[in-house]
Amino acid sequence: MAGSQPLYDPQGKLAGVIGTDISLTNIQDFLTRNRVSSGSQTFVVERSGMLVASSGKETPFDMPANGEPLRLTMLQSKTPLIKATAEALKERSIALPQLQKQRFQFSRDRQNYLVQVMPFKLQDGLDWLIVVVVPEADVMARIKAGTNNTFLLCLSALVVVSLLNILISRWLIKPITAISRASQKITQGDFSRRLIEPRIRELAMLSNSFNHMSEEIERSRLQLEEYSRSLEQKVNDRTRELQAEIQFRQAAEEALKEANAALHRMAYMDGLTQIPNRRRFDEVLQQSWRQGFRDRQPISTILCDVDFFKRYNDHYGHLEGDRCLQSVASAINLVVRRPGDLAARYGGEEFVVVLPQTPIEGAMEVAQMIQVNVRALQLPHAESDVSDYVTLSLGVSCLVPEELMQPELLLIKADEALYLAKAKGRDRIMAI
Ligand code: GH3
Ligand code: MG
Ligand code: MG
Repeated sequence: MAGSQPLYDPQGKLAGVIGTDISLTNIQDFLTRNRVSSGSQTFVVERSGMLVASSGKETPFDMPANGEPLRLTMLQSKTPLIKATAEALKERSIALPQLQKQRFQFSRDRQNYLVQVMPFKLQDGLDWLIVVVVPEADVMARIKAGTNNTFLLCLSALVVVSLLNILISRWLIKPITAISRASQKITQGDFSRRLIEPRIRELAMLSNSFNHMSEEIERSRLQLEEYSRSLEQKVNDRTRELQAEIQFRQAAEEALKEANAALHRMAYMDGLTQIPNRRRFDEVLQQSWRQGFRDRQPISTILCDVDFFKRYNDHYGHLEGDRCLQSVASAINLVVRRPGDLAARYGGEEFVVVLPQTPIEGAMEVAQMIQVNVRALQLPHAESDVSDYVTLSLGVSCLVPEELMQPELLLIKADEALYLAKAKGRDRIMAI
């Protein structure tokens, strides 16, 4: 800015305000153009307080009409802000000659101002102070504007990022949704869905895996269905076999039961007369004997023998003899009423009745009933010496079982009684 000519005269005064090749007006223009804000003021002063230039319209000197230009100090300045700054410096007792770089604030007309003072020194003696005064409101407005701009910038960025997010999400979600829908279809039994391979590598892998899984599941399902069908078939076949087997076994069981019953009949029943046989009688007699021994109760037996039966056979024939024996057996069997009583065919034309817990009187009554029953049959017997009809001789015995006594004794006695009945003329009852 300055040429080789010194700015200051030997007394240290500014060499010329108008006459030097440094144009203070230029400095002023520069300061005006480069103002910090519209409300700010930048000015240059000498250490002595003389104004050099300012960003305002004010010239740093007065020009009387007919005299030399008269330079102005800061305090003389007509620019309120410069004057106020000078007053603030004065209030703070800040001496310009020693002033180094400094910042401070002051208030004026209820407004805060920020002041920055910077020394500006050159080797050729120039030693100025550049003072920048900015209303705090301007700074805050700038900060606010900056904040607003930042906020708008952030908002724009947010909108852009959100849009991008939505687009990317849609791009990402589309194949995932397709997988999800296909999965739902699988749960509903539709395994035919196949996914189009997406462009994203990881999702493509996922889709491929899903397709592979679907194929595997469908294959497994078909295998399972086939297996289930064959299993069902096997179960049906086996069920039929089992049913046939069950029917066969049931039939076999029935046959066995019948065979057993037949065996039982054969073992314990007399084939001709269909009343219990001698074997059955022997068993029942043994049981009754033991019971009678325990209870000290009498047991009675009745031996019945058809009179002149040989003659009957001879006269009527063996077959008629058999029929006669069947009728007599039925008549004898009619007297068996109590649970322990038993009538049996003793052998040939002889029958026996066992009556547990029965004294001789009771046995006699039963014997009479037998006699009555047989008489009532009125089976003709042309060859009998004692009647025109078939008759019986009956021997009755009664014993209370005792120790060392055998049940056969009862039969021996009954037989003795029967013998007596025969001897006395037949068709009668004898008791011992
Ligand atoms: P008594 O009056 O002394 O008893 O004379 P009885 O002829 O009856 O006695 P005996 O012992 O002499 O003859 C018994 C006959 O009974 C001999 C036999 O032919 C006959 N008899 C034995 N068992 C059967 C049979 O199951 N069916 C037939 N029809 N006759 C039988
Ligand atoms: Mg006999
Ligand atoms: Mg006889």
